[in-house]
Amino acid sequence: MTSQHTRPAAPDATAPHEPVIPHNGPLVTEDDVAAVSEALRSGWLASGPRTAALEEAFAERFHPRHATAVSSGTAGLTLALRGAGIGDTGATVAVPTYGCSALLDAVLAAGCTPLVVDITERTLNLDPGRLDGAGRVDAVIAVHTHGNAADLDALRARTALLVEDCCQSLGGHDERGRPLGGIGDAAVFSFYATKTIAAGEGGVLLQSDPAAFERVRVYQDPAARERYAPRFNYRLADPAAALALSQFRRLDRITAHRRALAAGYTAALPPHVAPPPGAADGRVPYRYCLRAADRAQQRRWIGHLRAAGIRADPLIPARHLLHRQLGLEPGGFPVAERVVDSTVSVPLFAALTERQADRVTAALAGLPA
Ligand SMILES: *Cc1c(COP(=O)(O)O)cnc(C)c1O
Repeated sequence: MTSQHTRPAAPDATAPHEPVIPHNGPLVTEDDVAAVSEALRSGWLASGPRTAALEEAFAERFHPRHATAVSSGTAGLTLALRGAGIGDTGATVAVPTYGCSALLDAVLAAGCTPLVVDITERTLNLDPGRLDGAGRVDAVIAVHTHGNAADLDALRARTALLVEDCCQSLGGHDERGRPLGGIGDAAVFSFYATKTIAAGEGGVLLQSDPAAFERVRVYQDPAARERYAPRFNYRLADPAAALALSQFRRLDRITAHRRALAAGYTAALPPHVAPPPGAADGRVPYRYCLRAADRAQQRRWIGHLRAAGIRADPLIPARHLLHRQLGLEPGGFPVAERVVDSTVSVPLFAALTERQADRVTAALAGLPA
C-alpha cells in the first residue's frame, strides 16, 4: 500500500533523512483486503470453502499433484513425512545445515531422525556428495535456498523419499524448466509473513502419491478418523486461505517484479562484486544475497548499506546453523561455517517502491572493496 506521507524528492539517493528500507515487508493490495473481508462476512472462519479453493488452485498449477492446505510450512514438512508412512519410525531424514530450525522441528515432530548435511558453496543447497558416506537415506528435505534449485536428480538416487522445501522458491523452476515443487514426491510452501506469498501464517503441501495424500487427508480431518490416535491440528483457517489465494492469483506478477528488481541490482554491481548465482536460469530470487570474500568485507558492505539507510543483513548467524543447534562439531560443516561469515542479504521484496529500489541500486554501485 502507498504511504500516507508525501515527501519531497531528496537530491541525494542516500540522503540519511529518508526512512530506513526494511529487509522485508508484505505487499497487501485492495484485492487482498476485499478477499479477506468477504471471508469474514461469509460467517465461515474455520477450514472450509476458501481453503478448498486454495488447494484447487495449487493442484491446478502443479498438475498432477494433490494439494493440502496447512497451518505453516513446518506443518507441511511434518505431514509430508507422516503422509509417506515413515512417521514415528525413527527413519533418517537428511536436511541441509544452512536452513531454519523448522526443518529440525518437522523431522522431530514426525518422529524421525535428522541427519544434518553441509551445503554447496554456489547455491547454498544440501550437497548431495556429502550423503555418499551415509548410504541411502529414508528421506531428504531439499531446500531450494533463496530460490536456487537444489540438485534433485543427484538427491533422487540417494533417497527413498524426496521432499522439496519450496518455502523460498514459489514460482521458480530448475534449469531444465521443471517447476520447483513439481519434481519431488512431496513439496511444501509457506505463507509466513516474509515469504513470496504472505498470509501471516499458512502453507500448502503437494504430494504425487494418492495413498500418501489420503493419509494426510485423514490426518487433517477429525471426522475421517475411525479409531483414536494422537494427532496435532495442522489445518488452515479460511480468512488466511483467502489472503493466500488472492496473492497466489497474482503470483506471476510478483515473480516478474522480483526478477526485475534483482536484474536492476545486478546491473548496478561494481566489477569487484559477483552477482548471486542463478540469475540467468529459472530462479525467482527470494533473497538477493551477495558473497563477500571474508568477514571483514561482509562487515564493510553491511556498514556501507546501513549508512545509506538500507537494512542489509547477514541472514543466518553461525549459532543458528542446524548442526550447531544439535551440538555437532562445526569442523564437519566447513562450507556453511564459511558462508555465514560472508553473506550480505540486500532488501528484495514485492512491496519495495521504485524509489526505494533506486536507493538500493545507488548504494550497491558504491560497495567498497
Ligand atoms: C519459512 C521456512 C520454513 C518454515 O515455514 P513456516 O511457515 O514458518 O513454518 C521452512 N523452510 C524454509 C526453507 C523456510 O524458509
